[in-house]
Amino acid sequence: MRFFRSAFFIVLAAGLFFVEAYTSFSLHAQTVVPAYTPYKDAALSPEKRVADLLSRMTLEEKATMLAGSGWMESAAIERLGIPAIKMADGPMGVRAWYGSSAITNAANVATVVTATSFPAGETMAATWDPELVQREGQVIGQEVKALGRDMILGPTVNINRVPLWGRNFEGYGEDPYLTSRLGVAYVRGVQSEGVIPSVKHFAANNEEYERHRIDEQIDERTLHEIYLPAFKAAVEEADAWTVMSAYNLVNGVHCGENPILLDSILRKEFGFKGFVVSDWGSTYSTAATVNAGMDLEMPGGEPMQKFIAQPATLAQGSGAGWLTADKVLAAIKAGEITEATLDRNVERILRVIFVSGLFDHPHVATGIVDTPEQRAVALQGATEGIVLLKNSGALLPLDAKTIHSIAVIGPNAGAARTGGGGSSLVRPKQAITPEEGIRGAAGADIKVTYALGVGMEGEKPELDGTETRARLRKEAADAAAQSDVAIVVVGRYPKLEAESFDVATMDLPPGQDELIEAVEAANPHTIVVLNTGDPVTMTRWIDKTSALLDMGYGGQEGGKALANILFGVANPSGKLPVTMPKHFEDSPAYGHYPGERLKVSYAEGIYVGYRYFDTKKVEPQFPFGFGLSYTTFDYSGLDVHASRIGSKEPAVTVTVKNTGSRAGAEVVELYIHDGHSQIDRPEHELKGFRRVELKPGESKQVEFWLSRQDFSYWSPEKKSWVADPGTFEVQIGASSREIRLKAPLELK
Ligand code: BGC
Repeated sequence: MRFFRSAFFIVLAAGLFFVEAYTSFSLHAQTVVPAYTPYKDAALSPEKRVADLLSRMTLEEKATMLAGSGWMESAAIERLGIPAIKMADGPMGVRAWYGSSAITNAANVATVVTATSFPAGETMAATWDPELVQREGQVIGQEVKALGRDMILGPTVNINRVPLWGRNFEGYGEDPYLTSRLGVAYVRGVQSEGVIPSVKHFAANNEEYERHRIDEQIDERTLHEIYLPAFKAAVEEADAWTVMSAYNLVNGVHCGENPILLDSILRKEFGFKGFVVSDWGSTYSTAATVNAGMDLEMPGGEPMQKFIAQPATLAQGSGAGWLTADKVLAAIKAGEITEATLDRNVERILRVIFVSGLFDHPHVATGIVDTPEQRAVALQGATEGIVLLKNSGALLPLDAKTIHSIAVIGPNAGAARTGGGGSSLVRPKQAITPEEGIRGAAGADIKVTYALGVGMEGEKPELDGTETRARLRKEAADAAAQSDVAIVVVGRYPKLEAESFDVATMDLPPGQDELIEAVEAANPHTIVVLNTGDPVTMTRWIDKTSALLDMGYGGQEGGKALANILFGVANPSGKLPVTMPKHFEDSPAYGHYPGERLKVSYAEGIYVGYRYFDTKKVEPQFPFGFGLSYTTFDYSGLDVHASRIGSKEPAVTVTVKNTGSRAGAEVVELYIHDGHSQIDRPEHELKGFRRVELKPGESKQVEFWLSRQDFSYWSPEKKSWVADPGTFEVQIGASSREIRLKAPLELK
């Protein structure tokens, strides 16, 4: 009897096992992966591997892939050996991945991650040096791997539309061509290391004000000519593996569920083959998001649950938790998402896992970062990114032989303000302050005195009172009066300039203008240094200032780079990647920012930055592309060959000569002026640039290649780029306002 009972249970168990196994086989694929499976075969094409792997995935596994598993990790499917993609913030180096900005930037974080802090994007843009930016991308890629991560959330290629955007420092300035060249370089550098970049934020994330809810009204031409080119270039030229969708809405639809942006433009028009990752908390629906082609929602898992439970998350309209497996499966069941659509999105994630090499070669965390080579790239960027804006009294470079004393003054002199605030801020192992840099370069024979001059607003509230300010200012003026030279370093810091809010005013923080005036009154040999991302109002003091440097945010090596420039160890070669308006009211977006009732009209259209200032003849404080040197350059022999457009031969050549007595580098800019097209066009558009190093007396021929695209505008009627045949003008300039040579070009 006992035997029969046991036999019955054995038969029953076997039967159940068979039914279960049969169901799995018939519904999905094998539950056990054989030893040889095509998707594990690195010799096969990524497409074949993706197809094979997808065929083995259950519906549940596929649905699981659409949402992150943690704050910075995608979901792993262990059964199939699909690794999680481990991410880290950037773009200015590798930032800790343990939580939101608030958590990671806190002084008492549980797990401290340090890496090289590179200059802000805007400062790198001031180098006009794509080779250097590519090298930066490469060494950042190395640090990503060394820290055991796989993906860096950068580059930021949004355009500086408004001088007050809290994240202007992160991007590459106001011009789509310059931004494209540098974005492509960064992506190429990162990907050359098998690390996944993320080109962000798609699209038109140009203000932080109500970033989850602001609906931007942007016409099609403006989108194509100003806000999309850098994404297009990153996809077409660098084959970028991922793009990050932005928080905001464009023309009524959130970017993460916007089929026009994600499907018609990014995939169909640009040919994007990678995956789209959401910005953190920028999803607002399930079916619409998946169907639009937003592939991977971040963050996910428990951190996402905690994140959405915060009242602040809800209050600011942040979204998350829409692409969890249960919600995606429910939407499939309800017929709102097809399995084919799910497959398509999963395929795109898998493809990147194969193409990047992540599947075959998981990154081994050596922990070795901030090597001398990596630091050298950061220093070169910080140095080349410094812009000499004024040197009327030939105060610079400082002559260490004749100077005996220097007063180093200002709220940014004794602190290393490496970058703006938010997700891009990297924690370096060590950072050099301007004061330290200057002391190091000055050596023992020059007496260096430090004075705070004014507290940084809100940093130490006890310093913000009127009387304290007056006392600190007097101390600084006295120090300046007793020194041969005074150097005043002013600007902002992460609590005043950061992601998630816009800068309140273009004016320097309270007390800093007064400090500059007091120091200049005490010592005519005063050098003013700007250490901030957004432009500042300078009208109170600029006419009296004889030397002005803009060091932007130079990362950990900023202080050393500044000292190298001050003492002439390096010759300034940076040029502004943005126009500096005299007043905020002069800027083209004034009156169309930040918007009303959660709508903002980009009414200035294509007239952004110098396209506006130069066309409408509005005098800026400093123009786009401007920057001085300790030497001088002469431009001659402009040659234009219309027949070479689109060919392998350079269509434009020009000779540049260093006519001064110091070695230096000049950035030569090429603009195209179109005076004949039917459509309204700006005065001119940047279509080429070269940074050339020249010894004293040396000349070099600079070559530019041009294509029809460089003469084109976006035609909303034809829904394509159009170049109207006729006479264009090729302009060669040292800035957008200093065109040195011009020649007509007949386009057939
Ligand atoms: C930022 C992104 C960043 C992400 C992850 C967001 O708030 O907009 O640029 O990569 O957070 O930290």
